[in-house]
Amino acid sequence: MTDMLDGGCPCGAVRYRLGSAPMFVHCCHCRDCQRQTGSAFVLNALIETDRIRLLSGAPVPVGVPTDSGRPLDIHRCPACQAAMWSDYGRRPALRFVRVGTLDDPTALSPDVHIYTRSKLPWVVLPPAVPAFAAYYDMKALWPAASLERRRAILG
Ligand SMILES: [Zn+2]
Ligand SMILES: [Zn+2]
Repeated sequence: MTDMLDGGCPCGAVRYRLGSAPMFVHCCHCRDCQRQTGSAFVLNALIETDRIRLLSGAPVPVGVPTDSGRPLDIHRCPACQAAMWSDYGRRPALRFVRVGTLDDPTALSPDVHIYTRSKLPWVVLPPAVPAFAAYYDMKALWPAASLERRRAILG
């Protein structure tokens, strides 16, 4: 399992291993994520910071303005600048790992699609995965074990 959750940046300076599956995986279609990635959406695996083991390199945080006004730091490879994960809301114990940086990005798929109000029209969502026009009720959707993990780090 953990072998499947190794990842890194394009230049190879940053390598990491996730210590477990994430708590939940967001596919976010908001305008912020579209601008940051230059793409249609971002794939964020929400996981405790202390479950990200750095095997090499050290991503550096870069502050980015957001529509919500909440602070967002995108942690990038210092050499190639690829985005590895982000910290939304200055919560040091929680990271949003970019699923596309995994060696096997098929290892994690979205548990929810959010902010579909700005989803690009040619992106067709699978009917079996919950989707919301804006944010959603985590307590209604997350497995109990994941909610417990979140409580343990955020209180
Ligand atoms: Zn977003
Ligand atoms: Zn790099």
